[in-house]
Amino acid sequence: TRRILSGVQPTGNLHLGNYLGAIQQWVEFQNTGKFAAAENLDGESINEKDAQDDVEVVNENFFCVVDMHAITVPQDPAQLEESTLASAALYIAAGIDPTKSKIFVQSHVSSHAELAWLLNCITPMNWLERMIQFKDKAKKAESVGVGLFTYPVLMAADILLYQADRVPVGEDQKQHLELARDIVRRFNDQYCKGGAYKKRCKKAGLPSYPVFTEPEAMIVKAGGARVMSLTDGTSKMSKSDPAEASRINVLDPPNVIRDKIKRCKTDSLPGVEWDNPARPESTNLLNIYASVQPGRSREDILEEVKDMAWGEFKPLLAEALIQHLEPIQKRYAEVRADDEYLKRVLREGAEAADAIAEKTLKGAKVAMGFSVPN
Ligand code: ATP
Ligand code: MG
Repeated sequence: TRRILSGVQPTGNLHLGNYLGAIQQWVEFQNTGKFAAAENLDGESINEKDAQDDVEVVNENFFCVVDMHAITVPQDPAQLEESTLASAALYIAAGIDPTKSKIFVQSHVSSHAELAWLLNCITPMNWLERMIQFKDKAKKAESVGVGLFTYPVLMAADILLYQADRVPVGEDQKQHLELARDIVRRFNDQYCKGGAYKKRCKKAGLPSYPVFTEPEAMIVKAGGARVMSLTDGTSKMSKSDPAEASRINVLDPPNVIRDKIKRCKTDSLPGVEWDNPARPESTNLLNIYASVQPGRSREDILEEVKDMAWGEFKPLLAEALIQHLEPIQKRYAEVRADDEYLKRVLREGAEAADAIAEKTLKGAKVAMGFSVPN
């Protein structure tokens, strides 16, 4: 089996970046066992690497709503539960099928917090001081909690608990994946070697393999890997951006989408261009347009729109978005109307997740020399 794990924070409404960079990829992977095009951290094609394996693999998918990550910045307690349920429902609405993939809430599986503590104690401060997301978010925050600093360690715990082989994420998470891999090497190297380790494992009834698996990032190679803000083509679309006009949410109604697209930032150069570094907004809008029409080639799209004025292209983009999001929105409403169903999916997801997480946590504790109750 090959295990896939990923998550989104319930820090607000899920937007196009979360959908195109993450959730849509999960759905594709769940349904086909492949990504159209994805790379690992070394820039190698995942499909090409997979083609070299001739063993049959079974994928096990875990998709998590990472509410404990959400509280690294202030959250309104009256909103957090709703955002958590909304995120899980949106996974389902976007095509995650609970009979094929497990969906769970991070805080329902207590091993995440526990392993994060163990890993916090072996992660050097200066590894975390280099993290770009921390620097970015800390700059914008009024007061910065310790949790925001150790966020990447909790993320490593999320991944490592499940021995995840693959982690499909947007480009902004590259550095955190790198860190998770460094933590694996450090832990396995420091604790999972030698006769004394073997002895402790034997006593605890565990195999004496290295405790953690090195996860591989899967980063989409299409425009969806990095969807940019509608108000600034050089910064990424984010839930935490205070400007609502900077993003399209997956659940935005048609008139809101039309309005946001109508008012989004463009430039005064003629035509619509792809990959002109001087025109980041143009590239971003084209990327979005292409991502919501997955059947069409780049050439075909460019042929259609390259001579258009913004006033012509924008309504076209808005309608393509509306059309793409409509079935997801409809399904979302259905899922939210059946609270029992959603809660059952999350309960079953958490049970399946807990069974795996608990084993890994026990292995980590034995490796570190804790006394494990029998
Ligand atoms: P926040 O601002 O609270 O950090 P976020 O919008 O960055 O929220 P996350 O929950 O941090 O969303 O990220 C969830 C997933 O969505 C990750 O896999 C991340 O790489 C991906 N993602 C987030 N923003 C984008 C984006 N603009 N383009 C592509 N993928 C994105
Ligand atoms: Mg983020």
